[in-house]
Amino acid sequence: MPRDTTPMSVPSAGTVDNPADDRSSHHPFGPSRWPALMECPCWQGKPGGDAAERGTELHAIFEAVLKGNKHEPRDTFEENVIRAAESILAMAGTPQRWWIEERVQVYTPGGAKTEIYGRVDVAWQETGGDLHVVDLKMVENPDRAYRPQLLPYAFGLIGEGPVPATIHLHMAYADSGWVTHEALPIAQAWREYVEVYGRIDAIMHSPEPLSPVQSGWCNLCASFAECQAPRVVAQNVAGTLADAPEHWPEFSPARKAQLCVLADAVIKWGEAIKEHASADAKAGIAIQDESNGIYYTTQERKGRLVIPDVQQAWEILKPYLSADKYRGCLSVNQTELKSALKLAGLNPAEVNATIERCGNRLPPTLVFVRRSA
Ligand code: SF4
Repeated sequence: MPRDTTPMSVPSAGTVDNPADDRSSHHPFGPSRWPALMECPCWQGKPGGDAAERGTELHAIFEAVLKGNKHEPRDTFEENVIRAAESILAMAGTPQRWWIEERVQVYTPGGAKTEIYGRVDVAWQETGGDLHVVDLKMVENPDRAYRPQLLPYAFGLIGEGPVPATIHLHMAYADSGWVTHEALPIAQAWREYVEVYGRIDAIMHSPEPLSPVQSGWCNLCASFAECQAPRVVAQNVAGTLADAPEHWPEFSPARKAQLCVLADAVIKWGEAIKEHASADAKAGIAIQDESNGIYYTTQERKGRLVIPDVQQAWEILKPYLSADKYRGCLSVNQTELKSALKLAGLNPAEVNATIERCGNRLPPTLVFVRRSA
């Protein structure tokens, strides 16, 4: 595999996109800030701190393993990062093009190079085909959508080479070692990119001051201490708790919509509190109510059990379990299964058809998404 041989990135001072993901200097509107800006046009990165330093260390380990170097892990996070890097190497195989910690210039939808740049953690293009882009985050937060960061990297890299049929977006998480995967046909990826770029461009060039919008990014925002938007939402929430969910059928459609917005805000608020509390607990800072003795601490989450040989495991388990019970405990990681089938030489249509023949998909989950009319 062709390998990047540039030295590891060196962190620099200054504001960072996410204290837990600090790496190196960025353009003030670099793609790593786009996910937050898509939610609040006034979001600003916080200056780096301990979490930023840890993020930089973990990125350096990730990068070292991707470059084929060994690293002896000192804790679970380092083990996870190494595992994530190894799965990426296995997934990438022998690509045509391969980038690690690459500085990527952002292109306008019209095809012009902008002054905006960012740094992609790792990316590769399969021989004559699909492009894969990966970003490493410290903690998985289901409330944060990273397509607006990965798409500008993808189209920046395509700017230099053949156009793929499909773009694969991957997120690697240091708190679990998982690497997620989603595949977008090029036309859909392009439509989304044009929309995202338009929003960011409008923010960058807005002649008027923009209004802040409370979001899941507030706790990582440099303006959080003085910004009124999260407080206004909190006041609205406090004033609306009398609207018990049991009265739902009596609410007007407009009230239902307002309550959905507030419910979203409460969930995000709760996630932000948990994120701060877990950072305190990891740092040994007490979170305790002395009046009743209740305290909070962290507990290591059990990792997934990987059974390399399900047949052999069945021989061990069958004195205790029925075959049905055992089957119910097994799950298939679609990302890894798809990668394995691709490595076996199947094209994307054959991969999907083969997977469909193997089993039933669970019915899709209904999720609510906020849209503007
Ligand atoms: S604190 Fe204010 S400016 Fe910062 S992300 Fe939240 S709403 Fe936006």
